[in-house]
Amino acid sequence: ARLANQIAAGEVVERPASVVKELVENSIDAGANNIVVEIEQGGHKRIAIRDNGKGIVKEELKLALSRHATSKIYDLEDLDSIMSMGFRGEALASISSVSRCSLTSKPENQEAAWQAFAEGRDMDVELKPAAHPNGTTVEVLDLFYNTPARRRFLRAAKTEFQHIEQVVKRIALSHPNISFELKHNHKKILKYTATNAEKRVEQICKPAFVSEMATIKYEYEDVVISGWVSKAGVGFDNNDKQYLFINKRMMKDRLLMHGIRQAYEGMLPDAKHPAFVLFLDLPPDALDVNVHPAKHEVRFRQGRKVHDAVFQGISEVLLSSLH
Ligand code: ADP
Ligand code: MG
Repeated sequence: ARLANQIAAGEVVERPASVVKELVENSIDAGANNIVVEIEQGGHKRIAIRDNGKGIVKEELKLALSRHATSKIYDLEDLDSIMSMGFRGEALASISSVSRCSLTSKPENQEAAWQAFAEGRDMDVELKPAAHPNGTTVEVLDLFYNTPARRRFLRAAKTEFQHIEQVVKRIALSHPNISFELKHNHKKILKYTATNAEKRVEQICKPAFVSEMATIKYEYEDVVISGWVSKAGVGFDNNDKQYLFINKRMMKDRLLMHGIRQAYEGMLPDAKHPAFVLFLDLPPDALDVNVHPAKHEVRFRQGRKVHDAVFQGISEVLLSSLH
């Protein structure tokens, strides 16, 4: 079992930041509105995610650490309409196969907390009583300790932490109603209190971001676009403030990047590095988010339409900002 999980881990767990992404998405799935991420040595040494979500009952703690046991896909229809963030049921098993991983949880209506810990070649899961408030903590120690080839690919702690910081910022941008805290080597690095979309984008990008940018709100058939984009004269200094979310998930999509670039080339040909925070909402069956295991790629049923929606939406906003 461990070997199969380690192979799967190769797809899901590229680096500490991918662990953070999977675990924070699990916390969001669990309905948490407070998520604390603690990192030591860029995540090489320790990654711990604590949430106040619905928790995992004692009987299911073992299952949560075993591959596919919890997959929420039962048939093709589920696959088509899946909206929840994680659904492949293998992140925890994969992570625990390449680290020393424990899962501690207390659902609200369970009297005590329990901790599960997978050990040894067969990943036998040990259960023991623990102290924990309502919610869940996943602790990942010594990532890739047993897969030297992967460990060699890890960068300096500072670099790995920068990736983690990006992941937390991106997830926080699309979930303003959740408060997030990120610590590195016991030092508080980020803290976002729960708020609305406008204030969250200013917490993350910069103060006055919203008033400097053009607001976009555009509907094109079943595609709804909202967010903020650089308009004439402002906001062209930061390449790093380019955020694209599809159904609340951070995505890298060449087709949409092309639509965005085309809109700027048409309206503001001198603009080189526009900043944007764009949220696209589509019916779940209009896309397949399961193309890449790490899930930052997407395939649209009607790519052309989504491309044109972005192109037209941004073109209109830029045009009106010129007057
Ligand atoms: P998936 O999220 O794809 O179902 P994971 O391996 O990421 O698979 O998680 C396995 C299961 O463990 C989840 O389906 C969920 O039931 C449970 N779980 C994981 N993390 C949490 C959490 N933070 N709070 C509550 N339940 C969790
Ligand atoms: Mg998951």
